[in-house]
Amino acid sequence: MCGGTASAFHLEEPIMPLVNDIEVPITREELPEGQFLCEYCTAKCCRYYAFPITKPKTWKDFDYIRWFLLHGKAGIFVDDGDWYIQVHADCQHILPDNRCGIYETRPQVCREYTTDDCEYDVDSGHQMIFDTPEQIDEYAEAVLPPKKRAPWQQTRAKQFNLPMAVR
Ligand code: SF4
Ligand code: SF4
Repeated sequence: MCGGTASAFHLEEPIMPLVNDIEVPITREELPEGQFLCEYCTAKCCRYYAFPITKPKTWKDFDYIRWFLLHGKAGIFVDDGDWYIQVHADCQHILPDNRCGIYETRPQVCREYTTDDCEYDVDSGHQMIFDTPEQIDEYAEAVLPPKKRAPWQQTRAKQFNLPMAVR
């Protein structure tokens, strides 16, 4: 074997541990003392924001949610029965190495967030997630009584139900 130059055939991808089917540089248990999990993360929690919304109860409520989802870059999740909208958008202060560019003046919500239950090694721990308008429609159909037709739709339906004239 010749020495000196590294051939592409000798470069091996590092084997990353799998946790919950997600590849992570190290597991939580492997975190060396004095280091922070965030140092091994791609700033997953800085790439979206979320806020609570009223739990939908009517077709109209669900139609609003469908409208959110039609815009893409948005998702709905449910935790402990509470509903949230999640907007997938990177914070403009994530540095190329995934650190915070405004660490000293970062918002309070960032200060209060901890690694304890964070998404470092999970895609989501949410009770329910809806990413597409079709998913929320399907859910609404399962939990709500059938949609009432608008008056004009009922009139048209009646018209179509009239017996055809026989000559
Ligand atoms: S809190 Fe968790 S998700 Fe956020 S950067 Fe740190 S390890 Fe990643
Ligand atoms: S301000 Fe810093 S900690 Fe907060 S979301 Fe942006 S990059 Fe992350």
